[in-house]
Amino acid sequence: MAIERTFSIVKPDATKRNLTGAICAMLEAGGLRIVAQKRIQLTLAQAQAFYAVHAERPFYDELCEFMVSEPIVVQVLEGENAILRNREIMGATNPADADAGTIRKEHALSLGENSIHGSDAPETAAEEIAYFFSGLELVG
Ligand code: ADP
Repeated sequence: MAIERTFSIVKPDATKRNLTGAICAMLEAGGLRIVAQKRIQLTLAQAQAFYAVHAERPFYDELCEFMVSEPIVVQVLEGENAILRNREIMGATNPADADAGTIRKEHALSLGENSIHGSDAPETAAEEIAYFFSGLELVG
């Protein structure tokens, strides 16, 4: 199995409820290592650019407003098959469909306010990491 890196965001609904540590503990318990991390406040333009792939979707404006509503924690996770493993630990997008023990099942409020983001493929992981972190922040 390959050691990969993936990108993760603790979303506003979770930072607001003081769940950053609880969520990061679930990622670590699942076998992922947090190799870079920072708490930031996105601008609307940054949120719109990050979710540009969803620009035509009906929930785009709601999603971008949500992502700027509170600070977020952006992080890089490393481990064996980290991209897929992270998605497993996160659970399904809609918490109603998520398996027991996943972050979204345990903590998400709704389909939109679902506590955590994780890259879905190697290309997006590389793009998303580079969007938020410089080489100097990624010593591992
Ligand atoms: P994931 O975050 O699981 O990769 P998507 O890429 O499909 O899911 O969607 C990105 C984010 O947009 C979701 O995590 C969720 O916050 C929001 N979202 C997706 N679908 C909806 C929807 N139908 N209504 C409101 N928000 C949504």
